[in-house]
Amino acid sequence: MTVNLLEFERHGFAQFCAELGEKPFRARQLMRWIHQSGVDDFDAMTDISKSLREQLGTAAEIRAPRVVRDTTAADGTRKWLLDVGTGNAIETVFIPERNRGTLCISSQAGCALECTFCSTGRQGFNRNLTVAEIIGQLWQASRALLARDAGACFTPALSAARNLGRGGAAVRPITNVVMMGMGEPLANFDNVVAAMLLMLDDDAYGLSRRRVTLSTAGMVPAIDRLRDTCPVALAVSLHAPNDALRDELVPINRKYPLKELLAACLRYIEKAPRDFVTFEYVMLAGVNDGVEHARQLVKLVRSVPCKINLIPFNPFPQSGYRRSDSATVALFQDVVMQADITATVRRARGDDIDAACGQLAGRVQDKTRRRQRRQAEPIS
Ligand code: SAH
Repeated sequence: MTVNLLEFERHGFAQFCAELGEKPFRARQLMRWIHQSGVDDFDAMTDISKSLREQLGTAAEIRAPRVVRDTTAADGTRKWLLDVGTGNAIETVFIPERNRGTLCISSQAGCALECTFCSTGRQGFNRNLTVAEIIGQLWQASRALLARDAGACFTPALSAARNLGRGGAAVRPITNVVMMGMGEPLANFDNVVAAMLLMLDDDAYGLSRRRVTLSTAGMVPAIDRLRDTCPVALAVSLHAPNDALRDELVPINRKYPLKELLAACLRYIEKAPRDFVTFEYVMLAGVNDGVEHARQLVKLVRSVPCKINLIPFNPFPQSGYRRSDSATVALFQDVVMQADITATVRRARGDDIDAACGQLAGRVQDKTRRRQRRQAEPIS
């Protein structure tokens, strides 16, 4: 049986090389070829002996999810649809900005959490993504963007020349990763952490912990585990300033209510690479966007060093919600800022190709029968 080398973080590579009777430095070589040069062909690994290359060719493969669609929005945002088998497909989004390029990565095929305003939530849930499927998104996107920047087809030699070694970091188009695509990353803890370790590894993507952000709907015990194993920048999807409203919008709140969630955020900050947590707050017209909500929010988060990111709701068919108008968002932002808490408004990117927050739907073979249940519900 062949092993997919995209499943391995550093320890996996080391173990694999040891099993082949190879020295530990081979593990580093392989990691660099695969993750820095984007190579998927062992023959391209020119500093590895021919006999080892042949051995690798029979024992291993480098297989990322296949790109089935590649769309670029008017503002340069690019979205890939990737096939992960058995009728499921996931989405990955690249958001270019003047001084950085952010890749938004999916962690599950669908999502089990059922937040009412999220398109992925409506799709239902199929399964957790594997490490190869998670890191494979960064691998595929890096290759595609390097090829674009070279103005030519991707060639491993070209990529190796531009990108190998520490000095190459400056030319990399992806400077930041956010675990904010489809799925709840903390519900797929082990695979997400293994993939993030590769993002942080100097022999792979070499990103600093501040440049990798994980966003969660608030799985409290897993926030603590993350703090102890792989403390990257943390974003928490708050969306409501009190338990009654949050129970409705983000149902996992019924299990881990606000008090527990905020306490976990405070604990996280002790180890976080940034000295604040980002609270995301989707602005839903007439639901959570009033001045009274802003005041409650200020009281709620006051004890936690934080920034608030207001996200104008991105619509999708049959969502039942409307985006707050810009005056309402500005007023809400003002109330928060008056309390000396930084509040920014997230600009919608790529909404003409359904690539904005909450619009990612991919293709999910729902195992939870969520859609059937919803259709059976009386319309209120
Ligand atoms: N499950 C994780 C990560 C994925 S969602 C989480 O909940 O944080 C990334 C962000 O987009 C979250 O803050 C999410 O609540 C927000 N979001 C979801 N649907 C949205 C929509 N329709 N419009 C705007 N933001 C949305």
